Amino acid sequence: MARKKVVALGGDGVGPEVVDATCYVLGNAGFDLEIIKPPCGEAAMKQYNDAFPEETRQLCDMADAILFGATGTTSIAILAYLRWFLDNYVNIRPVKYYVGAETCLKDASGIDFVILRENSEGMYSFAEGDLALLRQKLADFRTIMGKSLAGFGEGKFALRIVSERGTRRFAKYACEYATQRRKNGYPGKLTCVTKSNVLRQSDGLFQSIVEEEVKKYPKLGYEHYYVDDAARRLLRYPRELDVVATENMFGDILADEASELVGGLGIVGSACVGGKVAYFESVHGSAPDIAGRNIANPTATILSAKLMLDYLGMHQEADALERAVAAVYKDGKNLTYDQGGKATTMECAQAVLAEIG
Ligand code: ATP
Repeated sequence: MARKKVVALGGDGVGPEVVDATCYVLGNAGFDLEIIKPPCGEAAMKQYNDAFPEETRQLCDMADAILFGATGTTSIAILAYLRWFLDNYVNIRPVKYYVGAETCLKDASGIDFVILRENSEGMYSFAEGDLALLRQKLADFRTIMGKSLAGFGEGKFALRIVSERGTRRFAKYACEYATQRRKNGYPGKLTCVTKSNVLRQSDGLFQSIVEEEVKKYPKLGYEHYYVDDAARRLLRYPRELDVVATENMFGDILADEASELVGGLGIVGSACVGGKVAYFESVHGSAPDIAGRNIANPTATILSAKLMLDYLGMHQEADALERAVAAVYKDGKNLTYDQGGKATTMECAQAVLAEIG
């Protein structure tokens, strides 16, 4: 297998700290990777007055995979490029408990499900504007209550786009993903989450396309919940979930909520796939409140790197990395403050590396 090329982009806030810690593990574990760390984010803004220099973008295009830290406001152009321009339309967010993590439950053992979030449209279609514009373009439009847009007065709108093409490709991916999990010993159940009782047209379409696709996979189980019910169920019955498939903003919110089951934002990693070059990032953001103090938990980024290794076909390395994380949590001596420990970001990463051996 040819040596895989990974571009590591720290981004903003705690991003550079957790990416550096993860690269330290990857670079010293003997994994056959070429890791390139071009300038980007807040540091590049200071140095070049550009958070995403052209050479960095070109390196991303040529990479086998990209490891990304976090976006605050400065790196928004990087995120836009990785997610929308490269068209990574699926965000995979595993919610898995490792013994020793600071769960909000009395007992989180056995929690192991995945949230698949449509990553390119829905509420995050970046189609916002003045109500006056909408009013002008849609003079005859009426809500289902019969209200004209003029009736709202001045304000803003946001379009929540659910396209047939966007939903279809996401639904197909979700079915394939659940099928793969089933082959790996998981139940193979898809839980579709929408608000189709209120958003009858848009989420109605999302739900019906997911249902059309899942019918082509008779071995998969299937259920549907409204998002408010799903938010409650994932706290009450987390072990009944396998693969949750949902719209962009719902997935964003549910994943932050679900993270608390297994130790919080410091732990949950993610993969953004389906596009030209996949990228891997923690579920957490730039965490400005703790940035620059070497106390951020690197686990979410390390587990994102685990997903990256799997994506690159380096399954043994991915397993070794995950086993090392699990061992560090079980041991409990090198955990960061969010897990009730005193370790710094780098001390936690060093402990993971030591477990890889
Ligand atoms: P975004 O909306 O940008 O995705 P978010 O909702 O994920 O952001 P963050 O800014 O990442 O929110 O942080 C929310 C809280 O979680 C903050 O108090 C932050 O300190 C904490 N947090 C986030 N990441 C980590 C981490 N790696 N280690 C420890 N605490 C973290």
